[in-house]
Amino acid sequence: MSELDQAFELHRRGEFDALADQARRITEERFGRKVFLRGLIEYSNRCICSCLYCGIRRENGKVRRYGLSDEAILAAVRSGHDRGLKSFVLQGGEDPAFGPERLCHIVGAIKQLTRGEAAVTLSAGILPREAYAELRRAGADRYLIRFETADPELHQYLRGGITLERRLEALEDLKSLGYQTGSGFMTGLPGETDELLMRNIRLCKELELDMAGIGPFIPHPETPLRDTPTAPVERAIRAVALLRIACPDIHIPATTAAGSLAADGRERMIQNGANVLMPNLTPVAEKKEYLLYPGKICLDEEGLHCIGCLDMRMRSVDRELSFERADGLVAPRRTLEQAV
Ligand code: SAH
Ligand code: SF4
Repeated sequence: MSELDQAFELHRRGEFDALADQARRITEERFGRKVFLRGLIEYSNRCICSCLYCGIRRENGKVRRYGLSDEAILAAVRSGHDRGLKSFVLQGGEDPAFGPERLCHIVGAIKQLTRGEAAVTLSAGILPREAYAELRRAGADRYLIRFETADPELHQYLRGGITLERRLEALEDLKSLGYQTGSGFMTGLPGETDELLMRNIRLCKELELDMAGIGPFIPHPETPLRDTPTAPVERAIRAVALLRIACPDIHIPATTAAGSLAADGRERMIQNGANVLMPNLTPVAEKKEYLLYPGKICLDEEGLHCIGCLDMRMRSVDRELSFERADGLVAPRRTLEQAV
């Protein structure tokens, strides 16, 4: 039996402490006590998509929509860079106001502003391959796009008709263009079984990702999934342990959604194999409008203050924050394989 199958067996038998121990050991072997920081900027809450789970889906008329100006995005990056951050994630809805040309300009400006030091990660949904290529040429280093669920029917239902196949095609485009590529999924989606959770883990492994995020699904009152019961945060935490065992070299964030569902959700993810945190640098006025799910934490907090809080939280679990760029460990191997 492979190591992963053994881990699945532990999961089935409910031996979660053993899973956590194994995941933590692997994480410490790879990354020591370090937890890498990525500054998150939520640049737009406008979206043309209708994902059933998401609070900023286009049908939700109750959202005050915003798109940050280029200057506001760059100001957020500058403050983060001054504080020592070397990795920034720009995330938004699929917003036509942020077309490839504008995003390219923003990526180039960030590279210039940070003297090429900072890694730029985009999370802007599905785009044509050519747009990903332009953005890569403009300097984008990394891209995040979760596959959300590995079940094709469930995926298509939850994403308003857009297929899993299309999502996976986007991931292949990104990898072949040399991006450090991230994906992941939600736990506790309606219809999710233990077997599906394990399929999600297997898919992360098959995709040979650099990064993967797992967040608990939190039902939003203004979406069709409002009445779905919230699954316990433990589901997401245990999935992190399985993911670490499946993909030893991957970067795994302790997600804000886990911290929103349980006060110590992120710490527990860290103790179960996560090694990344994402302080939110979005200006406070807009932060509370980027509500994919209710109960999101730190809405009144300046992102830079969050770093102090995260530092304390990490000390409480014997970890320390690291400001390194911390590039993906898998992409270089992928490029090498392609070159051969
Ligand atoms: N528009 C882009 C990026 C923004 S959404 C995209 O969809 O890829 C970022 C992530 O938020 C999604 O991938 C999804 O996994 C998560 N998300 C959306 N709604 C959520 C909810 N109700 N609870 C928890 N996570 C949610
Ligand atoms: Fe748009 Fe992303 Fe929300 Fe889907 S999950 S509606 S693509 S912001």
